[in-house]
Amino acid sequence: MKIIRTVEEMQRTSQAWKREGRRVGMVPTMGYLHAGHISLVRIVKREAEACVVSIFVNPTQFGPAEDLARYPRDFERDCRLCREAGVDAVFAPEPAEMYAPDYSTWVVEEALTGPLCGERRPGHFRGVTSVVAKLFNAALPDVAVFGQKDAQQALVLQRMVRDLNFPVKMIIAPIVREADGLAMSSRNVYLSPDERLRALSISQGLDRAAAAFAGGARDTAALCADVRAGIEAAGGRVDYVEIRSRGTLAAVAAVDEPSVLAVAAFFGKTRLIDNLFLG
Ligand code: AMP
Repeated sequence: MKIIRTVEEMQRTSQAWKREGRRVGMVPTMGYLHAGHISLVRIVKREAEACVVSIFVNPTQFGPAEDLARYPRDFERDCRLCREAGVDAVFAPEPAEMYAPDYSTWVVEEALTGPLCGERRPGHFRGVTSVVAKLFNAALPDVAVFGQKDAQQALVLQRMVRDLNFPVKMIIAPIVREADGLAMSSRNVYLSPDERLRALSISQGLDRAAAAFAGGARDTAALCADVRAGIEAAGGRVDYVEIRSRGTLAAVAAVDEPSVLAVAAFFGKTRLIDNLFLG
């Protein structure tokens, strides 16, 4: 497995693979890998003959009061997991390789980034779309896989790829959960044992919503109120619980089109997100 530090070497490597007739698949990550990330690698390996995992804690998608400096990192372990999963190259540039001191060009999606995390984390999605455009220009993937865990991010990036004509097939992969239901996340390591237990109220709320939806419940306000109440009863601070159209992320009063029930909540200082596709 190659470890690549520069954009130029990444481009040369990917171009060489393509000359050999290999399709290139990519999984962009911020590292501190878990089974959710590795599930994306498995999907890439079904779709492409060469697999790149990028590991880059992207400074431009963190707000000034967010956790950039303490974001968990373990590059050796990440490389071992990638090697075991059959990854061909880890692309791990330093921030200075990605951002010149006078960097000044941004990719901005202007519709789907309005609500949810877009509203609560100003500038976050500008950082995400810009860095993914740059990672695509480095690794030149034919296929890229993103997790439904970050549902708004996946929808925004699909829109970017369509709008800017990136020749990349975009795949959204299911959420991988711990045995007790908590959605896997690099940020789960911040949780104390007590917070970790209380955070289960998120996935438990989503399970109740899934069951209610299967039983015919369609009223958005009632579905969201139940999820919110469960999180608050467990001592979480809800950032949002909303049901929105999966096509437009517009608010819907009743779930009568493909929708997403999206949750963000704080347990202690840690902000967790999770979601459920409805319909
Ligand atoms: P991150 O390293 O958190 O930026 O995530 C990198 C990619 O892995 C993103 O496409 C995430 O949506 C995806 N991902 C993160 N957690 C999970 C999970 N529990 N299940 C599936 N995909 C995930």
